[in-house]
Amino acid sequence: MNKATIFGALLTLGVVLLAVWAYWPVPAAPVPQPEPAMVIETPVVVVPTSTVSVIGKSVAGRDITAHTFGNGENDVLFVGGIHGGYEENTVRLAEGVIEEFQINQMVIPENVTVHIIPNLNPDGYAQPAQASKQARRFNGNDIDLNRNFDCRWAATSTWLGQTVSAGASAFSEPEAAALRDYVLANTPEGVVFWHSKGGAVFTSECGAGVLPGTETIMNTYATAAGYEAAGLWTAYPITGDAEGWLASIGIPAVTVELETRDLIEWTKNWAGVLATLGLYAD
Ligand SMILES: [Zn+2]
Repeated sequence: MNKATIFGALLTLGVVLLAVWAYWPVPAAPVPQPEPAMVIETPVVVVPTSTVSVIGKSVAGRDITAHTFGNGENDVLFVGGIHGGYEENTVRLAEGVIEEFQINQMVIPENVTVHIIPNLNPDGYAQPAQASKQARRFNGNDIDLNRNFDCRWAATSTWLGQTVSAGASAFSEPEAAALRDYVLANTPEGVVFWHSKGGAVFTSECGAGVLPGTETIMNTYATAAGYEAAGLWTAYPITGDAEGWLASIGIPAVTVELETRDLIEWTKNWAGVLATLGLYAD
């Protein structure tokens, strides 16, 4: 290939490139479009809601309080201290759960409302530590509150082989009536009672069998907490218990018996509480 041929080729290429440049379509300037209306994503702000209310008075006039957290449609109720100072660790456990929710409500599923009655028997709880175990367990009328509910109620019942008074009638005691009224007003999906110290979780019934949801709560709490899932209480006959009354009105209720009477067994029970709330998350 001689120089002239190369020159000719380069000239031809130059002409072609010039032609392409000259005739290359100029892109039309974009026509200004009206701005679309701004869609502002509203951030989901979870407004912590917590309330504390007095739901009744004890025989001696002490307040019985309920704390609520969250505002979902599924209500779950936890109750401590039905056996007063004799099972005082259940009150301290309930107070610990309240404190934890006060610090961080985000652990509560969006569609759940948590209710906590930390101390259903403030008169028994107020007894000095050296008082008899009966005085610390019973209410101000010397009645075992967990025998005063409307399920197979009888005037006397048993506790560890002793005969105990169950009141003049079902719900004769203001503490039991306060819980009844609170339950009827809030219709929880499930109820957990803290007792000590059976070291297991129990179901409940009132003559019509264990409600389907009750075993689910028992198994969920027991598995998370590492307590035994023990089914129905069979150690000795009990009449007028709160859990049985709840079963009679179609509300699953379980008894969580801590393993000791002085420790709140926090890690176990916090896991049990969160797992139970998870049952009601959608
Ligand atoms: Zn108890």
